[in-house]
Parts: sequence; structure tokens; C-alpha cells
Amino acid sequence: MINYLQPQKNWQMQLSDTINTVDELLTILHLSELATTSYQPKYKSGQFPLRVPRSFVAKMKAGDPLDPLLLQVLPNVQELQQVTGYVADPLAENDHNPQQGIIHKYQSRILITLTSACAIHCRYCFRQHFDYKSNTPKQKHQQQVINYIQSHKKIDEVILSGGDPLSLDNDRLCNWITLLADLPQINTIRLHTRLPVVIPERLDSELLHFLHDINADPNKARIVVVIHCNHANEIDDNTAMYLRRLQLTGVTLLNQAVLLKGVNDTLEAQIQLSKRVFQAGVLPYYLFVLDKVAGASHFDHDEKFAVDLYWQMMEHLSGYLLPKLTKEVANRPFKTPINIYDNKLDDECYLQMP
Ligand code: SF4
Repeated sequence: MINYLQPQKNWQMQLSDTINTVDELLTILHLSELATTSYQPKYKSGQFPLRVPRSFVAKMKAGDPLDPLLLQVLPNVQELQQVTGYVADPLAENDHNPQQGIIHKYQSRILITLTSACAIHCRYCFRQHFDYKSNTPKQKHQQQVINYIQSHKKIDEVILSGGDPLSLDNDRLCNWITLLADLPQINTIRLHTRLPVVIPERLDSELLHFLHDINADPNKARIVVVIHCNHANEIDDNTAMYLRRLQLTGVTLLNQAVLLKGVNDTLEAQIQLSKRVFQAGVLPYYLFVLDKVAGASHFDHDEKFAVDLYWQMMEHLSGYLLPKLTKEVANRPFKTPINIYDNKLDDECYLQMP
């Protein structure tokens, strides 16, 4: 019998052998009956079909239709609802796209959409409608990107994103990083990636040695890796081991999560998430409220819900385990901290003495 869940060790093989149909996913999880209920296996989700690595599916609980990892990847008919306020480009990135592959919203940093490819398709992704075809820089565009940076002297940080930048092979990824790290004006290169969580073997020794060598050179840019993990169950022992190895290269390792209805919207889920990522060597960085992207409204909670949850988190988590509760507002030149004091009476901010 085929063991569908047995992860293969080679990350490229895992990447090319993801699960791409609802039928197969539900069969593996013993949830075939779901296919005839609210989930529609025949539903073709256009440019954004189901895609999930087998090693990520192995972290799901078979037989549980509400598994928090499953809910993040399983197409749902609710995606087809048109809901006012949920749009294709919620962060207005198209308005800040000065040339192929560059998004420039904040003064000191630019984001490069290195690739359209992701190992996993997260149903709430704010870039699920992004026009990657005309926005993925090829080798021939590298010099244009460098020219852009050099003509904007305030830029001192570059974020490599996508898609997932770690879906590039080491040659291409390291080539980009080397090029950027050699620019005197660049202090920091940040990688935004979900791959260390969904296919931890992506952190192969070649990449880790490369990152270590860049970090060891005091004249080169510092590397920051921001992983994306929404639930403690995403980090099993194998994933934690790879993240610890990544930490040993000297990178600054942070996590950003999105508050998702039904996935991680309880105090217990948030406490476990913060503690689990920390155990794996990762500091909680952001907890974002959902970007209002078309097709994801069913994941959204209003800000009042987020604030109430956050107050509870503050009572239970040490400061270094507490992510910043934040939202992105289109066309605002910074991320916006959510005002947690709105709707709170001053009395509520103090310990109630027994
Ligand atoms: S890995 Fe990141 S970019 Fe890719 S679908 Fe998920 S959230 Fe979007």
C-alpha cells in the first residue's frame, strides 16, 4: 500500500509531488464524505487551485473536518461569495509597483516578488489575485532592480517574497542574496517564507552554510527570515529541528501569523502558537488581522474580536512571546498597530484585586 503521508527527504521532490486535488486530500484524511457537503471537489478555484505538501498534510488530524491546518488549504464554496469590501488587491500593491518585480510602499525598504511559486496555497492569501506573470523578475531584470535600489538612497532593506522565495533553487536564490548583500546601502535582507514550515527539508545544508557565511561577514547585510506559521500544530519535532538549525546560522528568525476564524482564534491557540514557535527558536513578530482579499471573508474577524483576544494574550504571555497586533492599510506608508485601548474602560486595564 502506498503511504501517502511518508515525506520524501529531497525538498525538490516534495515540491513537485504536492497534493493538488480535493479528492486526494480528503481521501487521505478519511474525509471523503465532505466532498458532498459544503466543500466542492469539482470546484475549480481558477488561478489559485488547491496545493499542499504531503508533509504538511501529515500534521493534520485524519477524520477531523475542522482541523486548523486543513481549513487553511481546503477550497471552500464560501470563497465564491462576493462580499462588499473584500477586493482583489486589498493593499493596493498595484499602485506601488514601479517596475517589474518591485513593490515599493515604505521609504526604507522594497519588496521583490522573486517568484509566483508557493509550496502551499493558503486560502486567505492577500496576493492570491496578484498578477505574477508581469511581475516576476527574470535574470535579465536583475540589473534594473539594482539600478532602482541605487537610485533610491533611502532604501536600506530588501524583502524577498513572492510567492515563496525559498521555492527558487539555491543557485538562483543565493545569487539574488549575494547581489543584494554586496550593495553598501543595504543593511538587511529579509526573506518572507512559509517553506521552512511546510517543507522543512528546504533548509538544506547548502542553503544553511550560505546564510551562515553571509551572517558571519560584518561587512555584509544581515539576514532576517520571517516564517509564516498560524498554528502550533504546524511545527512538529522535525520542523522544530530544522528551524533550530536555521537559527544557528545567525539569522534573525521571526514569525508572522494571520488571525483566522476557526483556525487560531482562541486564547489557547495563540498561547500555544507563541510558545511553540519560540521553542523552535523563532520570535513571534506580527499577528495580522486579515487583509480583506476577495474570497477570504469567511476567515475574517472584526477588530473588536482581535482586540479582546489580544488583551487575554497579554495576561498570559511574556512580552517577548507577544506578537504585535497589526493591520495593513492600503496606501499608508507603514504598518498600522491596532489600537487596543479603544473600547476599553481605564478600570479594565488594572488587576482586579480579590
Ligand atoms: S505561502 Fe505565502 S504567498 Fe504563498 S499562498 Fe501562502 S500566504 Fe500566500
